Amino acid sequence: MERPLTQHITFPPLGLRQYEAVGGYQAARKAIRHMTPPEVTALVKESNLKGRGGAGFSTGMKWSFVPMDVSGPKYLVANADEMEPGTFKDRWLLEGNPHQLIEGMIVSAFAIQATESFVFLRWAYKAAAEEIRKAIQEAYDAGYLGKNILGSDYSLDMHLHTGVGRYMCGEETALLNSLEGKRATPRAKPPFPQVSGLFGKPTIVNNVETLSYIPHIVNKGAAWFQSLSHTADGGTKIYGVSGKVNKPGAWELPMGVTMRELIEEHAGGMKNGYRFRGVLPGGASTDFLVEEHMDVKMDFAGVAAAGSRLGTGTMVVLDDQTCPVGFVHNLEHFFAQESCGFCTPCREGLPWTEKLLWAIEQGQGREEDLALLASHATLLGPGNTFCALAPGAMEPLQSALKYFRDDFERHIKEQKCPYGDHIH
Ligand code: NAD
Repeated sequence: MERPLTQHITFPPLGLRQYEAVGGYQAARKAIRHMTPPEVTALVKESNLKGRGGAGFSTGMKWSFVPMDVSGPKYLVANADEMEPGTFKDRWLLEGNPHQLIEGMIVSAFAIQATESFVFLRWAYKAAAEEIRKAIQEAYDAGYLGKNILGSDYSLDMHLHTGVGRYMCGEETALLNSLEGKRATPRAKPPFPQVSGLFGKPTIVNNVETLSYIPHIVNKGAAWFQSLSHTADGGTKIYGVSGKVNKPGAWELPMGVTMRELIEEHAGGMKNGYRFRGVLPGGASTDFLVEEHMDVKMDFAGVAAAGSRLGTGTMVVLDDQTCPVGFVHNLEHFFAQESCGFCTPCREGLPWTEKLLWAIEQGQGREEDLALLASHATLLGPGNTFCALAPGAMEPLQSALKYFRDDFERHIKEQKCPYGDHIH
């Protein structure tokens, strides 16, 4: 099984010369010297690489929206503000192979003819910051960044920008505001950043995992990338599992492996004494899936057909000894705290949701609270808020009300948490 993305991950990571020795920067050389920018975009489109930040938008298509005939600067941003609960895949790539990301950024920036690029890094990823800073400097020293890269007429600068530790900054337009030195609130879309992004100029924002695939696609082609996958979505994917499993972790596997294979084989099954109850398939802002979904193929379409989203592909497992109400309360606490406060439904609705869940968990729930929670899931759902934060926050809630309704009802009937005391 090929694992292009993670095969050269080491701690500490490969320095520039070591990275070159395993084929590093060949893709940058190939793209800049032997391909035109539209050819690079067409190749990425053909590979069917879908965005790994969570939304699964076609990467090549996104790039193709950049107007190539306008004068003035264009920008490329690597979204490394990985803060989705349960998600730790980009950290692996950032700390374990920073040159792969930088090379992916150089090729991507060349494809859209960006002159400046940024790594927007989660504040807490201190070790990653050190590795990225070092690798950017090495790339400058070797002539892969800066003026006239590899003797061509293409020039690119790259900067590391560390965020302020807010979940909101990962939303691409809030990220751009933050980079501009403004408050990290989202912008209206359209216009999409591809047309009007950083400082109003065409900008591509791609996730770290997405960008890290680019050198491999340029080196080995679209058909090869497609062949790595079990399904129509191209490539491999970094999946992860956390919770009461024997071997929590992250693995690069063919896109479309089943949930069963991930949980039972790679994560080693449930720990002794714990039973599987459900799973958030791709970080906290996805709907629960349950036992009946074990054979779902974990690609964008497969998880959507089961009623959830692949999201970041990093699963959080709920076991039979963890209270689902407390579990969801904990998530809503996070989302309420991370709301930027810009739009009313999210600012007001998330603390209400949290409060209702806390009352139920504490044995003070009322019968009508379940209908109230369900109405919140709609009021804060898609189309009613400015960005995806609150609708994402409603996904675990609405699906918990569906799959674990008995637990909610028992809390209200017995006026206590049937699972005993918890630390939240
Ligand atoms: P989105 O679907 O609105 O957009 C995804 C990307 O596609 C964006 O870059 C956007 O510009 C582009 N796009 C979408 N529609 C377009 C159109 N019509 N024309 C041009 N471009 C278009 O999703 P989003 O709000 O950017 O992101 C939500 C996702 O983020 C969720 O799936 C969630 O799982 C994920 N997420 C990830 C993390 C993390 O730490 N990785 C954190 C929070 C959320």
